[in-house]
Amino acid sequence: MSEIRTRFAPSPTGFLHVGSARTALFNWAFARRYGGKLVLRIEDTDRERSTAESERGVIEGLEWLGIDWDEGPLRQSAFADRHRATVERMLANGRAYRCACTAEQLEERRQATIAAGQKWTYDGRCRDLDLGADLGPHTVRLRLPESGFLGWEDGVFGPSGQDASEIGDRIIQRSDGQPLYHLAVVVDDLEMGITHVIRGADHHPNTPLQIALYRALDAEPPEFAHVPLIVGAGGKKLSKRRDPVSVQNFREEGYLAPALRNWLIRIGWSHGDQEVFNSDEICTLFDLDAVNRSAAQADGDKLLWLNQHYLKELPASELAEKLAPFLGTEIGREVPVTTELSELAELQRERGKTLSEMARLSRWFVVDEVDFDPKAVKKHLKPAIEPALRALRDGFTKLESWSRDAIEAVFLEVLSAQGDLKMGKLAQPVRVAVTGGSVSPGIFETLEVLGQSRTLARMERAVDLIDVG
Ligand code: GLU
Repeated sequence: MSEIRTRFAPSPTGFLHVGSARTALFNWAFARRYGGKLVLRIEDTDRERSTAESERGVIEGLEWLGIDWDEGPLRQSAFADRHRATVERMLANGRAYRCACTAEQLEERRQATIAAGQKWTYDGRCRDLDLGADLGPHTVRLRLPESGFLGWEDGVFGPSGQDASEIGDRIIQRSDGQPLYHLAVVVDDLEMGITHVIRGADHHPNTPLQIALYRALDAEPPEFAHVPLIVGAGGKKLSKRRDPVSVQNFREEGYLAPALRNWLIRIGWSHGDQEVFNSDEICTLFDLDAVNRSAAQADGDKLLWLNQHYLKELPASELAEKLAPFLGTEIGREVPVTTELSELAELQRERGKTLSEMARLSRWFVVDEVDFDPKAVKKHLKPAIEPALRALRDGFTKLESWSRDAIEAVFLEVLSAQGDLKMGKLAQPVRVAVTGGSVSPGIFETLEVLGQSRTLARMERAVDLIDVG
């Protein structure tokens, strides 16, 4: 087989939707698997809706996911000349014709056809009029064969197609000279030597017309594979209001790129019962024949599970680097990446399922003064515990080396001096004192990472709080 060439062809009219990201991922994985090439083509011909910001967002999203391309980003708007030249050629050889029907006339005839209980396709009024270039405002239509099946063997859906007679002659160039999507996409895919068009199943109904266009251009259509769209829990369409839908949303919620990539590749594709796929495995194992035909359900719990898996694998220093911006957002100022932050990250790595959750749980570490959770204070910072807290504080003050074991030793001393006090009954008030709440890593480790002076200051404040009552 000749070299495989795939393309990802987003329209830069919004954020990078996870469904599009998955399409990109499938194209990338397929190209990589077979040593082919991936082309990134930005379909920006809709001038009103395309924005540079959206294009940047799409590119950043792909880069963040670790999807690299071999050619591009190319902008479809740069190819306007070849789209126009193709239409001219088709007009000259009769594969297309000029149409003078106005939008109002078409609408009137469409309504009448529907009222008569028939399905509307263009009625061919201008098809044989041989209208010339001096016509004034006009569109250009593809001259479809009157009969014949426009079929293909879809890489995912299997045998697919439609009768030409059901489609009708469709507009390929607007009256302002702009090419329509179908024409631009076919001309560009041909020009770029695309061998496999892998795209969302929402484009499956467009394919017969595009096949007709290939034939009109005397060209072989590429292979097509349409991947089922992602649906949310219960088979519902993902909703912008309810679900995170853009790659950026997931990123801001604290998912790691390898986790999102792994999750997306597994939506609708499987390889035995393997769940975890790193980038190399995706690129060696992915194939279209294992893509499922039915709508692909996105399972948020699985994403959380994968995210935790990848969080656990990160070296502490890298985890700290990733956590710092989330902590920064949490407290509204920049958080430096320090050795202590790495130590904290190491302690927290199993506790949060996302970076933002981990940051929420680590807030106490970066604030100057903790926010006390009133319930935890009421339950654990009672007058009865004050003598033990004071004794601990005194013990800590004297410590010359601040280590986990030394901290534990002070705890044990205080406990034995206090008689019947149990470790848990002392650890919890200390935890509230230094973190504001009742959840944190092991108490000795928590104090160790917090440092001696901050621990002392916080215990002081807790004792004052009890005093004030
Ligand atoms: N630009 C089209 C879209 O974003 C994709 C075209 C195609 O893949 O054929 O839906």
